[in-house]
Amino acid sequence: MDSIVRKPKIATVWMGGCSGCHMSFLDLDEKLIDLASKTEICYSPIIDVKEFPRVDFALVEGAVANEDHLHEIRRIRERCRVLIAFGDCAVTSNVTGMRNLIPIQEIMHQVYEVEASPTTGIPSGGVVPKLLDRVRPLHEVVHVDYFLPGCPPSSEAIWNLLMEVIAGNPPNEPRRFG
Ligand code: SF4
Repeated sequence: MDSIVRKPKIATVWMGGCSGCHMSFLDLDEKLIDLASKTEICYSPIIDVKEFPRVDFALVEGAVANEDHLHEIRRIRERCRVLIAFGDCAVTSNVTGMRNLIPIQEIMHQVYEVEASPTTGIPSGGVVPKLLDRVRPLHEVVHVDYFLPGCPPSSEAIWNLLMEVIAGNPPNEPRRFG
């Protein structure tokens, strides 16, 4: 009797980024059909799933900019076998991290017209999730297995990495790809 081979489950996540990395993912075009035949895409901005499931691989776009992101990335780390920092914002904080140059009080006032707490510098609620005091790349908050740089990474680089992680075993140590 033939054994049933389980397809690897993958997730793509959009945190503190512009979604350009996901646009590059969509640029896989017809390869997306190929990807769907090799894997099960369980969670992504392109499908409507609310709860992050247990997956084999997670491609995470964007930096960790607020408390919601922090909670989310820790939960993702618990539930995925291989975590990939997807794009420069996830790898270095990049564009999202440009706000680190300006005091948070000033940002809240100028951008959101919300005053931050004078003692902590952090807004006490309101229209946006609580911002962290500084934006962080993923590896400052959780263990990252692969780094896929680029702003955005090319669809070719995304494909090559996915094929490698799907074909191989979980990496033993953090590795830069691309
Ligand atoms: S790495 Fe570039 S394309 Fe990707 S989320 Fe950041 S700014 Fe956008």
